Amino acid sequence: MTDANGLTDNFGRAHNYLRVSLTDACNFRCQYCVASFGEINHPSPHLMQADEIEGIIQIFSELGIDRVRFTGGEPLVRKDALNIFNKVGKLPLKLAITTNGVYLDKYLECFEEIGLRSINVSLDTLNKDKFKEITRVDAFSKVIGNIEKLIHHHFHVKLNAVVMKGMNENEVCDFVELTRNLPVHVRFIEFMPFKGNEWDHEKVYTYKEMIDQVSAKYDIEKLQDNPHDTAKKYQAKGFAGTFAVISTVTEPFCSDCNRLRLTADGKMKNCLFSQTETDLLGAYRRGEDIRPLIIQNVKSKFAMLGGQQLSNEMENRSMISIGG
Ligand code: SAM
Ligand code: SF4
Repeated sequence: MTDANGLTDNFGRAHNYLRVSLTDACNFRCQYCVASFGEINHPSPHLMQADEIEGIIQIFSELGIDRVRFTGGEPLVRKDALNIFNKVGKLPLKLAITTNGVYLDKYLECFEEIGLRSINVSLDTLNKDKFKEITRVDAFSKVIGNIEKLIHHHFHVKLNAVVMKGMNENEVCDFVELTRNLPVHVRFIEFMPFKGNEWDHEKVYTYKEMIDQVSAKYDIEKLQDNPHDTAKKYQAKGFAGTFAVISTVTEPFCSDCNRLRLTADGKMKNCLFSQTETDLLGAYRRGEDIRPLIIQNVKSKFAMLGGQQLSNEMENRSMISIGG
């Protein structure tokens, strides 16, 4: 467990990891993330501006955050993303990003310069037509080309695949095969419920089902997980890369959670599934000290899953507007 810091909750969990959403807009409409019938994005004055992102993250870092992951929506559609990366890149933080990969090529130089080496790219299928069906955009070749560039430039690359029954569960072994020669880390994610994504238990392809499928074909071994890892790591023997499962639905990992979240409109969430939010941006704009608000938000964190049962009745935002 991380040593107690200014962001330790009532269950003794110290938080040192902040996920910051840069926008609730996206160039994709992934079926599991966003309803097809349009999501209302916040107009940009309602979003944190570059200097506000820098200022708020600086305060989090003074309280004990030492890792920040940029996410969204799609963080790289934000027009001032470069400016944000350069500002936040000056803070004493380990930086990472989660992206759908389409615009990565424009940012590689900046990431090299600011030392952002860890990049998660979402890729749910290795089939071009299925990619279009899932994301509702024809960008498979662009994303694959950018993943190749990342590998060529020796970034630490994780591929995130949400696995759903009837959609892509038949590709789990194909993704593992990819790790035979490529030094990539595939992470299979159980389908989670969020507002508007028509979640159903029946659609969840479980951790156990994934491991059963892979072990029927490959000789796999369990790797040691690092503290706070959300993913349970494995490797097929002799392969260059690894694979892992994020089992939020069937085996949640809340007891060791070290994460906090900041939405693009400046609301703090202490859990992906939290019902309540704290408006940090409003207070910051009024010139108030946001430290007590942050600490109070951490203290109110529930033991598990934001105090909710996973279902499609949950009180929450859509994933695209939280920042995954
Ligand atoms: N646009 C970026 C991307 O797709 O990587 C970043 C934001 S996206 C919301 C972050 C991660 O959340 C992605 O890996 C995506 O696959 C995952 N995600 C979205 N909706 C999900 C759901 N319902 N269940 C599980 N994972 C989900
Ligand atoms: Fe966009 Fe990422 Fe959501 Fe897909 S998963 S719609 S790429 S935010």
